[in-house]
Amino acid sequence: MMRFLDGTATARGAPLILVVDDDSTTRMLLRESLEAGGFRVEEATDGERAVERFADVLPDVVLLDVVMPGLDGFETCRMLRTLPNGIGARVPIVMTTGLDDIESVNRAYEAGATDFITKPIVWPILAHRVRYILRAAQGSDALLRSEERLAEAQEMALLGYWDWSLADGVVQRSDALLRMLGVSRAEFARDSKAMFARLDRDDAQSLVVAHEGATQYGEPFSLEVRWQHPDGAVRILHEQGAVDRDATGKPVRIHGTTQDITARRAAEDRVRQLALYDPLTSLPNRRFFNEQLALSLAHAKRLTAPYGVLVLNLDRFKRINESFGRGAGDDVLHEVALRLERALRLPEFRAQVAGAAASVNLARHGGDEFTIGLAGLAEGADAARVAERLLELIATPMMVEGQETVLHASIGIAIYPTDGEDADALLMNADSAMHLAKREGKNTYRFYSPAIHARSSEKLGMENGLRKALERDELVLYYQPKSCAITGEITGVEALIRWDHPQLGMVGPGEFIPVAEEAGLIVQIGEWALHTACAQLAEWRAAGFNNLTMAVNMASPNFAHAGFVGVVRAAVAAAGIPPERLEIELTESAIIRDVEATIPMLRALTATGVRLAVDDFGTGYSSLAYLSQFPIDGLKIDRTFVREVATRPEAAAIAKAIIAMGRSLGVEVIAEGIEDEDQASFLRDAGCHTMQGYFFGRPMSAANIESRLLAGMAAVGA
Ligand code: C2E
Ligand code: MG
Ligand code: MG
Repeated sequence: MMRFLDGTATARGAPLILVVDDDSTTRMLLRESLEAGGFRVEEATDGERAVERFADVLPDVVLLDVVMPGLDGFETCRMLRTLPNGIGARVPIVMTTGLDDIESVNRAYEAGATDFITKPIVWPILAHRVRYILRAAQGSDALLRSEERLAEAQEMALLGYWDWSLADGVVQRSDALLRMLGVSRAEFARDSKAMFARLDRDDAQSLVVAHEGATQYGEPFSLEVRWQHPDGAVRILHEQGAVDRDATGKPVRIHGTTQDITARRAAEDRVRQLALYDPLTSLPNRRFFNEQLALSLAHAKRLTAPYGVLVLNLDRFKRINESFGRGAGDDVLHEVALRLERALRLPEFRAQVAGAAASVNLARHGGDEFTIGLAGLAEGADAARVAERLLELIATPMMVEGQETVLHASIGIAIYPTDGEDADALLMNADSAMHLAKREGKNTYRFYSPAIHARSSEKLGMENGLRKALERDELVLYYQPKSCAITGEITGVEALIRWDHPQLGMVGPGEFIPVAEEAGLIVQIGEWALHTACAQLAEWRAAGFNNLTMAVNMASPNFAHAGFVGVVRAAVAAAGIPPERLEIELTESAIIRDVEATIPMLRALTATGVRLAVDDFGTGYSSLAYLSQFPIDGLKIDRTFVREVATRPEAAAIAKAIIAMGRSLGVEVIAEGIEDEDQASFLRDAGCHTMQGYFFGRPMSAANIESRLLAGMAAVGA
């Protein structure tokens, strides 16, 4: 035990000396002289008592007479050294022997004594002698302890060391090294060359080369090797060697460390995984993709080959999250990632669509956006085939929370070098192209063209322009006729907003409504549209068209606004129209965004007598059962179904189901976006009440509607 070290003795008071001697005079003299020197003293009269006393008092030094009856000094020393728990292992034991008794000095050392004092004792220097012995013991104990600590630290750091003498070829290895390698000293001694077989073949080769460099040229080395541990696992070891030279500069000794860095490497890999991969889909993330893209572009540059960058963004992904929750949204992203990855990895796919030499990088760039890099394109147009194929893949129905759902995406394509020379430019341009694809109807792809750029910087100027548009009266409402499916008579119109921009001409709502929502201008714009539409209806009523209804679109910030019902009531009152002649169109997704809050508001709205219609029905993934909770009067089947009723049986089935359901709920079913006779007759036969679309009339100015009304019929074709 080391309790007498590092000042513990002083903490307990003076160091304690156990004096063991059968002669009482000697004991008394020793006590006096030691106490005078500042020590405390305990006595034992023989060996047996010394062993007993020792455990009780735990002395800092033992002074032990050699010649005693019973146990002699040698025996006593041996017993003290082997006391249980090693309590006597390190205490300095000083034997007192006769001056000429060299034989007993030797025996004393063999028995484990620390030092000896010759008799007759020189009393004046006894205390000094004991103090030196004590100090030396403390010093060596401290050294021992620091060696132990070092060994512990090395063990913890999985660090072993070795020392290779070139003169005789002997290699010393630390215990920690042997434990780390799982090989005993004896095994090394038997055949140290065989140990190379435990190394990975290439690594063994590298190590041999490093050893040669060190032994012949004195070069230090540092390398990693893979070691087949006898327990079967492969460990990664870091070998580091330094060289000592003699006076002539010749290497004489190589020494170094071996460290097991397997765990550290695994942690680093994990960090790398986290830094470079998306945890949700396990695809490379934006950072990794950008790094790879830079490399791929450098390669494409050398080959002077085109390189395609695709940005793929899911359409209306927000609705998935809103309708099914984020967990389902995550599942969808995962599924999409899987589909993309599987397809792009297939050599057949690549050969078929992108040219045999194609290689592909795929990443999730964040949110619902994926990026794809296509190398080895024969020409830029090949990227279009890839995009088409990916759109098809994504549109294959998938199950979301037990409901079959069809997802779409929009893809933007930029081709190196025409659309950009570096990664940033290509990604930015592919992104603009993707936004163009969204604007132009979604579920499609677009190539980048410099003209898009002009458009997107227009958008930046749009927000400011929009603020002024209200003051300058640049907003206008167009009206699209809605006709009775049976009589063909115009029963109402839908007000559709436009911005008569001084430079850009007529700008459609698809381009500025989202900007208005972001800029917080939508509430004001909605209010303007309501008042304008109601006033227009009042004018037409005054001209004798009393049976018309006016439909006005409202964005979700409009009706999420606390004063919304009041605003509607005020518009109706100001125009002096019957409330049931006004119909508010809310999109399905806006309603189900926050059903709890929306339902009371919708009830308050319908309580004013105003009608309510669900717009773009079928795109919001709301279940049909949901619908019966809402106090609605009309249901507008989304254009995407109408477009395909005559050509795609699934779309026809969906349209029929929506119509049947709407009829059973007793609401008016309106089909919008009807463009030809086939669609019109299908929907009429299926039981749709009201028809709207270019086939019956495009959105037009109030004056043009008036001429239509005056003509007294809905002219077919527009
Ligand atoms: P929506 O309410 O679903 O309006 C129908 C859109 O389809 C209109 O586009 C209309 O011009 C177009 N359309 C009608 N018939 C056909 C057809 O046969 N074929 C094709 N391809 N398209 C047809 P528009 O006017 O560009 O409006 C787009 C959307 O902007 C509207 O969709 C509506 O959600 C929104 N919107 C329009 N006016 C307002 C408004 O005053 N306030 C708000 N918040 N949103 C508005
Ligand atoms: Mg509408
Ligand atoms: Mg619509």
